Amino acid sequence: MTEVERHTYDVVVVGAGGAGLRAAIEAREQGMRTAIICKSLFGKAHTVMAEGGIAASMGNVNSDDNWQTHFRDTMRGGKFLNHWRMAELHAQEAPDRVWELETWGALFDRTKDGRISQRNFGGHEYPRLAHVGDRTGLELIRTLQQKVVSLQQEDFKEYDDYEARIKVFQEYTVTRVLKAEDRVSGVFGYQRESGRFFTIEAPSVILATGGIGKSFKVTSNSWEYTGDGHALALLAGANLLNMEFVQFHPTGMVWPPSVKGILVTESVRGDGGVLRNSDGKRFMFDYIPDVFRAQYADTEAEGDRWYADQANNRRPPELLPRDEVARAINSEVKAGRGTPHGGVYLDVSTRLPAEEIRRRLPSMHHQFKELADVDITAEPMEVGPTCHYVMGGVEVDPDTAAASVPGLYAAGEVAGGMHGSNRLGGNSLSDLLVFGRRAGLHAALYAAALAERPTLDQEQIDAAAAEALAPFEGVDGDGPVENPYTLHQELQQTMNDLVGIIRREGEMAEALQRLAGLRERAERAVVEGHRQFNPGWHLALDLRNMLLVSECVARAALERTESRGGHTREDHPAMDSSWRKVNLICSIADKPSTEGQIHLQHKANPPIRADLLDLFETGELKKYLTDDELPSADVPEQRT
Ligand code: FAD
Repeated sequence: MTEVERHTYDVVVVGAGGAGLRAAIEAREQGMRTAIICKSLFGKAHTVMAEGGIAASMGNVNSDDNWQTHFRDTMRGGKFLNHWRMAELHAQEAPDRVWELETWGALFDRTKDGRISQRNFGGHEYPRLAHVGDRTGLELIRTLQQKVVSLQQEDFKEYDDYEARIKVFQEYTVTRVLKAEDRVSGVFGYQRESGRFFTIEAPSVILATGGIGKSFKVTSNSWEYTGDGHALALLAGANLLNMEFVQFHPTGMVWPPSVKGILVTESVRGDGGVLRNSDGKRFMFDYIPDVFRAQYADTEAEGDRWYADQANNRRPPELLPRDEVARAINSEVKAGRGTPHGGVYLDVSTRLPAEEIRRRLPSMHHQFKELADVDITAEPMEVGPTCHYVMGGVEVDPDTAAASVPGLYAAGEVAGGMHGSNRLGGNSLSDLLVFGRRAGLHAALYAAALAERPTLDQEQIDAAAAEALAPFEGVDGDGPVENPYTLHQELQQTMNDLVGIIRREGEMAEALQRLAGLRERAERAVVEGHRQFNPGWHLALDLRNMLLVSECVARAALERTESRGGHTREDHPAMDSSWRKVNLICSIADKPSTEGQIHLQHKANPPIRADLLDLFETGELKKYLTDDELPSADVPEQRT
């Protein structure tokens, strides 16, 4: 029998970023004994890196803003593939979640009259991002951690034990969700420091593990983003939704090579930064797609006037949604109009006084000075697209965040549906808070309502332990052993080259073949040494997740023969409204073959509620919806 450290809780939250912490706070407030597990140090989640802000229609800077406008912008940004109910809940509840953060001690930047300040961002009609300079994520995590500590202090008063009802297990990695028959019974994993195994028995498990960026070579994501939650959900029998949609942020650093991919926040453009090619041309005016033409300035003069007078001018095209800007930069570089290091120029130095840049963008100023020896108050930055965010994720119920497996929930970047084919900047932090809270609430209600708690099954624990130890076992037969680092590099190169920002049928088919080969080789991955803090071993285990998730991305991208948001097909360049009605669902194949382990199927995207459709002009709806989806009055000939 495997030796494991054993714990029992009501709710287990896997992930201590914004989604996980907000979920855990809610579960604990509902009276549940709650465990938070994170594979990094507590506080070092991805959310900390968020720079620009949290999108919420508080209307502090422009009182015309409201949830309906935020909903509209989100649906437009996602090219109407979003689950409308998630987009609705998100737009309605985001302001409350921000105000709640303030009551918990968050110190946002202020307007002159003392309200929470809000800044412009791509795709948002009004200044909407509540922010703390360009370090918003840090303040968000600090506040949520402080709230966790205050709950622990309350518990100390009641139980003489700080950890009586909420405990953090840091540097613990979950490798399996365990089940009792069809429902969740807990989790299995290992402690990173000692290598010892642990289980937590619990009827509710919330996945809040973030994204998948480490499957790509150039990414703004850090080492934790190996798609663990996506893979855990698949392996537990849940579905992933629309995994083909991967966001390439338009502005990552391109130089020096050691920092390639690190994010340059969209706030630079929100605060007036402009993009130019090597000819000095402000090229974004050449790339305004038809669906957005009415909302964006077509001259530099109008775009510039918008910063001071938004009521009477249209926004500059530098603030188009990210997918549009990333593709435009890609095209400029490909056409030979890029910078010496393969990017384009992003200039804020000619737009704002140096003092203002240092005040509004302190991290960017520091980042470029330290890493590239560029002073952004005096010279332009060189930037290019970087893999940033995954819109696809666990298929969940929009109201409860429940996955299809009873007891399993998902919130934050690991969940799918909310952002459709492309996420707007700032809409992730608000998503974490809105759906983190909902996941925590419903996981707690589910656990509390159970007549009988599921228990852990020893056979599953032994199997999970054997799986985790396999890389130490060596390989059967004479075949070569494989190095996990080499496999990871090849995986990243494959995804970057063949399933990247611009996709072609032949290349994606080749990617699937290469992934199949890598999966076979990964079974021969061998690590040396012992279980104490062994990064090679950790990577060998993460490879299973990255390979599963990468296959989902490649398989769905090959299937979707249109271009939409974060999925651009060179061979199918147009958006096709019949595809808007289709969600692509990945699940684990009953019989994994040499070709793959993922089963892909089509599922209808639920029709958008009529009163929400009424928020859009008919002319706009016609760009996205098929005739039979339009409100009946809009297709008179056919209906009469
Ligand atoms: P995370 O914050 O990444 O947390 C994931 C947690 O899961 C971590 O604690 C990790 O240790 C844990 N974990 C993962 N796997 C396991 C496992 N197997 N076992 C145990 N624990 C595990 N969005 C905005 O809205 N506004 C912004 O300004 C913004 N700026 C950004 C800037 C950068 C540089 C980046 C990279 C992203 C930015 N985003 C922004 C996106 C946003 O930050 C993320 O989408 C969001 O923080 C994800 O939060 P999360 O709670 O889902 O996951």
